[in-house]
Amino acid sequence: MRWWFLVLSLAATGAAADVRLYVFDCGSLTFDDIGAFGIDNAETPVRTLFVPCYLVEHGTGADTRRLLFDAGLPAAAAGQGPVTPEPGMTMRYERALVDQLRSIGVAPEDVDLVAFSHLHFDHVGSAAAFRSAEHLIQAAEYQAGFVDALPVYETSLFTPLADSPRRLLDGDHDVFGDGSVRLVSLPGHTPGHQALLVRLADPGPVVLSGDMYHFRLSRQERRVPVFHTDAEATRASMEKLEALLDAEGAELWIEHDQALAETLRLAPSYYQ
Ligand SMILES: [Zn+2]
Repeated sequence: MRWWFLVLSLAATGAAADVRLYVFDCGSLTFDDIGAFGIDNAETPVRTLFVPCYLVEHGTGADTRRLLFDAGLPAAAAGQGPVTPEPGMTMRYERALVDQLRSIGVAPEDVDLVAFSHLHFDHVGSAAAFRSAEHLIQAAEYQAGFVDALPVYETSLFTPLADSPRRLLDGDHDVFGDGSVRLVSLPGHTPGHQALLVRLADPGPVVLSGDMYHFRLSRQERRVPVFHTDAEATRASMEKLEALLDAEGAELWIEHDQALAETLRLAPSYYQ
């Protein structure tokens, strides 16, 4: 029965048969006050943001290529119990990404490509472990983080990649050249923010949101946090993303959505 289902699913979605997506628990952030996200504290009881990391495996056997998308909280916080990097924010991170990767048989050197939705500290926390990988980054994010070193970034987390091979991007990018995995340029949260479209057989195409939205309410009400670098660009990116989701029939996984995370299969399980 199962292979019939698979064949039908592939025909329906056009997904590549050889794409796997792993989701890792790379910690959580809890806020006393969520006003900065453009949401009144009374509007939702949600205070905790999940922090995921993702590994995409493309191809099989010797042809397998691996893309890491987002690298979670700072690796130094792993296993430390609750940490308070600034008043009103609590960081929890149980097991470092690199250790979780090892448990599925993947060493940092086995990762061929890295891309981050953006360079904020909760998305690049283990970046330094992946210096040998090719770094896929929007030119605007590269300029803001690596060149201008804007104060919103904790640059020490990603400057170890300064000499890594690099693909500087200017817009959407088909990562493996077959349409199965695509970086989607969605500027506004930061100058070169991007999401990732992964065409899976089951549950079908999925878009990993980056920080396009932090809460479900952010999407429903199109709220723009006060700390976004460009509110106008954010609104245009929201329109672009929603149109893409419609066109692809894709699901949106809001990365920081704790309630969603509780329903996802986490590594070592995977989606395909
Ligand atoms: Zn974030």
